Amino acid sequence: MSPRTLFSLLTLAALAVGASLPACSDADAHTGRPNVVFWLVDTLRADRLSCYGYGRPTPAFDALARGGVCFEEAHAHANWTQPSVATLLTGCFAPPFSRAFGDRLPESMTTAPEWFKAHGYATIGRTLTVATSAQFGFAQGYDEYLELDRDLTWLQRKRRADDVYLAERLVDSALAWIDGPRAPDQPFFLMLHSIDPHEPYSRHPDVATYAAAATTEMDGSVERLQARKTGGNVFSKAEQTLLSDLYDEEVAYNDAQLARFVDHLRERDLLDDTLIVVVSDHGEELFDRMSIGHGGRNLHRELTHIPLILHWPNGLPAGRVVEPLFGAVDAMPTLLDLIGLEPLPGIDGESRAWLVRDEPPPHPYRPLVVVEVGKVYRDPIGVRTPELLYVNDRTRRFGEKGSATGLWQLASDPRERANTFAQSGDVVRSIESFLTKWETQRVERAKAFISPTPVPLDDDSIRRLQELGYLGDDAEPGANHDKSTNDER
Ligand SMILES: [Zn+2]
Repeated sequence: MSPRTLFSLLTLAALAVGASLPACSDADAHTGRPNVVFWLVDTLRADRLSCYGYGRPTPAFDALARGGVCFEEAHAHANWTQPSVATLLTGCFAPPFSRAFGDRLPESMTTAPEWFKAHGYATIGRTLTVATSAQFGFAQGYDEYLELDRDLTWLQRKRRADDVYLAERLVDSALAWIDGPRAPDQPFFLMLHSIDPHEPYSRHPDVATYAAAATTEMDGSVERLQARKTGGNVFSKAEQTLLSDLYDEEVAYNDAQLARFVDHLRERDLLDDTLIVVVSDHGEELFDRMSIGHGGRNLHRELTHIPLILHWPNGLPAGRVVEPLFGAVDAMPTLLDLIGLEPLPGIDGESRAWLVRDEPPPHPYRPLVVVEVGKVYRDPIGVRTPELLYVNDRTRRFGEKGSATGLWQLASDPRERANTFAQSGDVVRSIESFLTKWETQRVERAKAFISPTPVPLDDDSIRRLQELGYLGDDAEPGANHDKSTNDER
């Protein structure tokens, strides 16, 4: 199939926005639909889970994959938290979020919790990252949304920095709600946004001991990582191994907490009638291209390939593997379809439930995922297909130092190392033509979404962001401090 034919088959969803929510009525009350739990793990690479082929065990993730549906090639559309979570929650390509944390998820977008609430669900959210706090619009639609990193004072956080971000706190809080104020006859939508694999990387010796001892020059702390990045971004081979192993310990710890949560659902006889969605917002570069972090100019698979597992014993097959490329924008419409809830209005994504049901597609379909940084329109953007990854840096030409521009042939180069941009003029022109049209629609759509008022950050919010490696000292609202390829978000 020629590139032209490939892209001529693609369609973008209608641009309707601002559809109003249906009023909740008796008819919308519980109709036997399952509970829905989002186990959203920030910064989790799919290829660090054993159910995706990794050598170190992640038994809780594996058990859900074995007992449910595992999407082998799910990809996020953005390489950092805010636009990616916005897409997961809305089924829409998110408007740009600024690198200075000045934008909100617009009220005009209909979020999944709003939709579930309108259809009779209790909607409960817990997050451990300020990036998805209420001030940025991520609490829309929840009956109760707790920012657990806010519970402690700044001094307490300073003294017990690692404990603040442990998924254990998230699970404790969720289980307390399940065993406490939950109405047994009302289904629930429960968002649990953990952050263990995100910087800082902490030790979990009770779960896994992969990493060597930290040194005075390098451990997994935000302070050490930021100092090294500011000082030239050079890490020794031993330090690279240390940080990668620490990351794996964080994943093992998160796996243990997932096991604790799932066991509790089973003990309460809730597991069979609960759809658990395991997903991440983006990955993490762990020196795949000589850097570490996410949110910068890198749009390769280590940043976009995310786990996506659906587990619902009473409603989904066990052991189903969905092999085709799958974009995160389709995740919410797909799961709404699977549980029989009407689709979100005016969205970009569409249900791919036929992939789960192992049915033929309802119309000609070629999987494609637009990937972008999505902070401002001049940031890198690209397209992933089953055959190739194309990235346009947009501010740095091909071959220029630090340029992200390139084209990689995935069949012969699955690790995306051999840049064929210079030999692929026709393909590049075809993809660029598609991207131009895609972005034109995106810009038009964003006009209705973008909030005219920047989010004011108070001192506490700035500290909470800095604890996670956000907002360098030189950061001002709107400033471009993308000095390296690992601009943390
Ligand atoms: Zn994130």
